[in-house]
Amino acid sequence: MQIEGILFDLDGVFYIDDALIPGAAETLRFIKHSGLPYRFITNTSTLPPEAVAAKLRRLGLAVDSAHIFSAISATEQWLKRLEVERVALLLAEPLRERFARDFTLDEVAPEAVVIGDIGARWDYALLNRVFNWLMQGARLLCVHRNRFWQTGNGLQLDIGAFVAGLEYAAGVEAVVAGKPSRLFFDSACQALGLPAERVAVVGDDIESDIGGAQGCGCLGVLVRSGKYRAEFVARSAIRPDAEIDSIADLPALLTGRAGR
Ligand SMILES: [Mg+2]
Repeated sequence: MQIEGILFDLDGVFYIDDALIPGAAETLRFIKHSGLPYRFITNTSTLPPEAVAAKLRRLGLAVDSAHIFSAISATEQWLKRLEVERVALLLAEPLRERFARDFTLDEVAPEAVVIGDIGARWDYALLNRVFNWLMQGARLLCVHRNRFWQTGNGLQLDIGAFVAGLEYAAGVEAVVAGKPSRLFFDSACQALGLPAERVAVVGDDIESDIGGAQGCGCLGVLVRSGKYRAEFVARSAIRPDAEIDSIADLPALLTGRAGR
């Protein structure tokens, strides 16, 4: 495989909850030593990039926030490109403050609604409020539309179900700022300074990571950790360019000693 740069998914690849995946730190050291440009790509919408980097450092990974390419930055880029000023945010509190610097927070007649991860705050009243904003013409942006994610307590329902329900009810289509949107991967490749075909995306999600990567011309390397399940791959039409048991096996794949 001709790989000149790497985009790493984080959750399920480098850690699960608060536990580092064995070999993750060694692989990061290998990548740094190799000189390959890399970014950590994440759909996490509960933390700004600085906090993501701080979390990784706490887990034992030497990561700088400049290496975090997040769906939050992609969301901000989208809103600015659409020249949206008034936004309603379904986002965690630190991110509301961040958006308030560049946009007017408006919960009466927003031009756009941004949906990110708000945990268990979903209820009928909130869904109905968003539905009415959409019926009044607000654009719907979601940081991602993942179906579920892996936690220490098993699989957990993600925001994709709420986004799909709101699209159905209001007869609109959401813009996706994060993975697997083409905009996200294109911008991430730009950040590496490489054309997509020389970039490998390493992730545990066959659809969002591997499908998104291949959709914009990147190579998709699937890790069999995190949310990976053999049956999800069997059910999907997407075929990864390579599969490895975990991030620990990436150096061997890159040096041609393993993988398929
Ligand atoms: Mg993941």
